[in-house]
Amino acid sequence: MARDQYTFTDPTALYSDIEPKKQHQTEPGLDADMTPQPDLGEDTYRGTGRLAGRKALITGGDSGIGAATAIAFAREGADVAIAYLPQEEEDAARIAGLIRDAGVKVAQLPGDLSDPDYCRGLVDQVVAELGGIDILVNNGGKQIFNEDITTLPDEQWQETFDVNVRATFLLTKAAVPHMKPGSTIINTTSHQAYTPSPTLLDYASTKWAINGFTKAVAQQLAPKGIRVNAVAPGPVWTVLQVTDGQPQEKVAEFGKQTPLGRMGQPAEMAPAYVFLASAESSYIIGDTVNANGGSPTP
Ligand code: NAD
Ligand code: MG
Repeated sequence: MARDQYTFTDPTALYSDIEPKKQHQTEPGLDADMTPQPDLGEDTYRGTGRLAGRKALITGGDSGIGAATAIAFAREGADVAIAYLPQEEEDAARIAGLIRDAGVKVAQLPGDLSDPDYCRGLVDQVVAELGGIDILVNNGGKQIFNEDITTLPDEQWQETFDVNVRATFLLTKAAVPHMKPGSTIINTTSHQAYTPSPTLLDYASTKWAINGFTKAVAQQLAPKGIRVNAVAPGPVWTVLQVTDGQPQEKVAEFGKQTPLGRMGQPAEMAPAYVFLASAESSYIIGDTVNANGGSPTP
């Protein structure tokens, strides 16, 4: 049998043959143009019905962690809507095909998360196309490195907050009125929330804010039967890292500092989202699953 996510495997040996080379794309970039391409679990994720009949919206579901999560949700039986920027249509079309192959419904809903009107209308589009929403994954995110605060453009600071934090707020606000008890919301924070890099002032600040938002709103929504949690990835091989998410020279060393000694792949993040989306995590609320190769967390 080919390997799947349940195969007993040494995690230090997994992906040990992957050596990313220096490469650069313009934001938002495409998985299709990466070398090597990130593993989204296309050949390995095996569903067992954990999200049967559920209806999910995943922002940034075209590539990287969001796309791996979209594939996993579909194979677990959920209908899936993916949101992404119009420039990402090539990646989005491939992921939509994989979702369809799983025998569930798919909706493709392109737009800009920094536009509050798009955010407010997005949930209505999901409800119209899928017939409801009971999982929201806030995963779309912007990360542009900058060496010196005196050269960090005000516009970049604002846009990073708009995409990472305000969209998370607006989509949660729009989704809650549609959500039945048992629904789940999963936000995407980062190890950067606790170990901010000096080159990621704006990005790290947004990820800290998302952790705080998650813990606060989780307490508010728990009595309604809606659970909110977060996933905090560590270094994961995605196009975010080669679209000025970090200096290009650092790409080859990416993830080597973790106890596991390597970067992670999107396929290794998706199971955390599945767990938090499904009813099996019913008593877990306001928490953050850290998927970071072993770096200590607070
Ligand atoms: P990715 O580039 O594949 O995904 C990010 C997605 O965000 C894009 O595909 C895009 O669709 C979306 N996006 C960005 N700006 C947008 C905008 N203005 N409007 C609409 N959509 C927009 O990279 P990824 O690494 O899979 O990122 C997914 C999430 O994981 C992000 O929130 C990121 O901060 C987080 N994260 C990634 C890492 C990592 O090492 N890759 C580590 C920690 C956290
Ligand atoms: Mg993308």
